[in-house]
Amino acid sequence: MNEHKIFIPVESYLIFVNPHFTLYQAPIGLPIIFPTQLEPFIKKLNDKSVFKVNPLLTKFADKLIANHLPDTHLTQKLHYDYDELRKGVYCHLCDSIKKGYTSSRVSLKCTSCGGEQKVTAAIQRSIEEYQLLFPKKKLTTNGVYNWCGEIISKKVIRKYLIQNLKIKKHGRSTYFE
Ligand SMILES: [Zn+2]
Repeated sequence: MNEHKIFIPVESYLIFVNPHFTLYQAPIGLPIIFPTQLEPFIKKLNDKSVFKVNPLLTKFADKLIANHLPDTHLTQKLHYDYDELRKGVYCHLCDSIKKGYTSSRVSLKCTSCGGEQKVTAAIQRSIEEYQLLFPKKKLTTNGVYNWCGEIISKKVIRKYLIQNLKIKKHGRSTYFE
């Protein structure tokens, strides 16, 4: 607005437009508009005289439309390669992947924060990450083993895959869906 020399008062709000969104224990008094407040909020805006259509606002609207960027960074594809990504299990408490884990068959203990997570939960999360990043890759015991940074035994991973996914055969190889 400064750039275009348009001076109208600005009030900023954080607006949640997804009707299914809920924010628990939100502090009172913040300039937040929740989905259920959206309609009365817009009505209130329309009632305010400053928002009545005038030549200045029309000019501003035209500028906004002219400067609209149809492509945002969200639609740009990221390029990444399996080999160049760091393998390992993220700690669900401190997001650390750096220091690693002491692992038993049942749980992984983060050497950074000391937090523990169940091995099965760690495998499940790692599979979800893997499938999100590489939807075309087939899920195999060796693949998950490598993706988890080779800190969970293949035996445990295989057992998890057999129990939770469908086993598929392709020639001599086996994968999971
Ligand atoms: Zn941790």
